[in-house]
Amino acid sequence: MVLFWSIVVTLVMFQDPSGTGELKPSDDIFGIQPKNQVEVFVASDISEEVKEGVTETLALAVQSWGSTGRLEYWVLGADREAALKLSEQFCKRRVERGDMTLRDCMRDRFNKNHGFLSYQKIGADAVATGRPSMSAGHNGGSEWGFHRYSSSLPLGFAGLLETAGEGDQITIFHEYWHSVQQASIKAKDHPTRRKQMGPVWFAEGSAVAMAEITAERLWESGKLRKWNNTTRPWPNLKQRMTDKMRIIQQKRDQCDTILPDTYEGECAQLAYESGGWAVAYLMNKHGANVLLESFHPQVAELGWEGAFRETFGQSSQEFIKEFETFVDLPLVEQVKILPNF
Ligand SMILES: [Zn+2]
Repeated sequence: MVLFWSIVVTLVMFQDPSGTGELKPSDDIFGIQPKNQVEVFVASDISEEVKEGVTETLALAVQSWGSTGRLEYWVLGADREAALKLSEQFCKRRVERGDMTLRDCMRDRFNKNHGFLSYQKIGADAVATGRPSMSAGHNGGSEWGFHRYSSSLPLGFAGLLETAGEGDQITIFHEYWHSVQQASIKAKDHPTRRKQMGPVWFAEGSAVAMAEITAERLWESGKLRKWNNTTRPWPNLKQRMTDKMRIIQQKRDQCDTILPDTYEGECAQLAYESGGWAVAYLMNKHGANVLLESFHPQVAELGWEGAFRETFGQSSQEFIKEFETFVDLPLVEQVKILPNF
């Protein structure tokens, strides 16, 4: 199975507070204001065009879904020296703001899971091997009052390895949706924050569905730039979702559940692919704005399962059963739930 674009690993990381560990006193963790609060930082080997691609896409995500408060988006290139310099800039900022000690911050850049050098290596390896690979993540930050993002080299914006810029746009929308989820949670302790994100299939599935559907609407309206920078045309929403359904059908027999609550193992991809379909299904049934207008505003008070029941009129277990019967339908029936723009 060939994907139209490189597999993107987009995780929500939950870090324990480090450094000073002090929580900000304000109730609104992220200091949300009705304006674009995104700041983009790039390594010195990232071109202006790539930076512009990241910045303009984030601006459209903010315009579409509202500000989620202070947000820092750090983009690594393929060059290790440039990555080290960017991490120094990051650490200078953390120390100045009292978020981390210099020692903790400098150590963090070597973290295998989300350290700056791990993101630099993904881009460097892709360029060296010619095999497209990209990763971006919402790596916590709530303990410091902002959304902390890191991204490897956006190959599509950079015009590398026949990778579509449209794929990078989807990734950025996906990532920004995680900040929407995070901003709706008022608890400051990490176990509660983690719980209120819901199971992995929902946290990732809603990021997938919201990114795919919103980007499609914005391309169709001409608000979001089309990059058209690969020989193969960028597939439309129906084609992209069909790809995901093929993966679901291939994997479902090997996996205990079609909607997994895990980032680990062979079946974790289903959290993204069938999670994306599951949330698209919910949006078709309850309205395109159901997550923004009904579900997320209730999470802080009712918790994840409570908000799910209140919004969708069934428990998440009942929904999973219903969704399993949907996955049994022929593809021609399934694609009917997707919006037309
Ligand atoms: Zn994600």
